[in-house]
Amino acid sequence: RAKNEGLQHYAFFETAMEHAVSVAADLEQALRQATENGAFTLHYQPEIDLASGMVTGVEALIRWVRPDGELVYPGHFLPLAEETGLIVPMTVWSLREACRQGTVWAREGINIRIAVNLSGMLFRHHDVQKLVLDAITETGLDPAFLELELTETALIENPEVAGRQLAALQDMGVSVAIDDFGTGYASMIYLTTMPIRRLKIDALFVREIDSSSSSRAIIKAIIALGNNLDIRVIAEGIEREDQLLWLKEQGCDQAQGFLFSRPVPAEKFQQMVRAGVLTVSDGQGATERPD
Ligand code: C2E
Ligand code: MG
Ligand code: MG
Ligand code: MG
Repeated sequence: RAKNEGLQHYAFFETAMEHAVSVAADLEQALRQATENGAFTLHYQPEIDLASGMVTGVEALIRWVRPDGELVYPGHFLPLAEETGLIVPMTVWSLREACRQGTVWAREGINIRIAVNLSGMLFRHHDVQKLVLDAITETGLDPAFLELELTETALIENPEVAGRQLAALQDMGVSVAIDDFGTGYASMIYLTTMPIRRLKIDALFVREIDSSSSSRAIIKAIIALGNNLDIRVIAEGIEREDQLLWLKEQGCDQAQGFLFSRPVPAEKFQQMVRAGVLTVSDGQGATERPD
């Protein structure tokens, strides 16, 4: 009987495995198709200057639009996109779409910097400088309104190539932010050798402001580092007033999080600006000091 049960379990396991494998294959096929059709949309989340309360930029965040209109968040498909290499055409789509939106906003009188997330994988096999340049030329966006968000890992994996490409991009007016700062490698030499404009403190630390003295210590250290290197510091994932207050007290430059706004569709962002819910700091060019 025991043996029989074991066999049954095995049969169940095998079916479950087959099912899992076919679900994964279906997902890959669907994602491949979505990438071919550009079945994505970008939501935009404002970044707030803490001294003035004004919006200094927005971060573009990708969502996959399923045929029934359902939105799938990046956590559910980015790992697969990285694994299959689909991340490359997907990011090319994000870049182009963000640049296109930027030109639409510029025409409407909303001059705002848009930050696009770039996967580190892009630097492994691709000419990032060319991908970015193509998106800018095709759409006609003023490069001063584009920022690239990279993780520490992306820079450290291939520092020579990344450094060269980022320097060239900076010469064009594009700026670079380090995303999820504090969670990657401990090496910080690239902060002095690469043209970094902003550090984004990972939400992980912000979430623990009230509960962890080591998270508070790390945030303070990042703010001091930014001040000393003349790099703006922005904290991500701010959900509560008390977190905001503490960050202000520490001298953090900027903030982003649900407390201010969730990531929203482009039209919604535009409405909030029109309604005066959000004020965009004008003349947001690469030379502006607050940022
Ligand atoms: P990220 O760049 O660190 O983006 C911040 C994430 O935190 C976003 O998740 C955002 O919606 C979320 N967030 C913002 N404020 C709050 C808050 O107050 N509380 C909480 N709990 N979460 C908050 P999202 O949109 O799901 O994106 C996840 C990650 O996917 C991003 O992390 C980024 O690494 C990646 N990603 C998004 N769009 C793209 C893209 O176009 N290309 C690439 N390569 N990666 C992307
Ligand atoms: Mg980001
Ligand atoms: Mg982040
Ligand atoms: Mg993150």
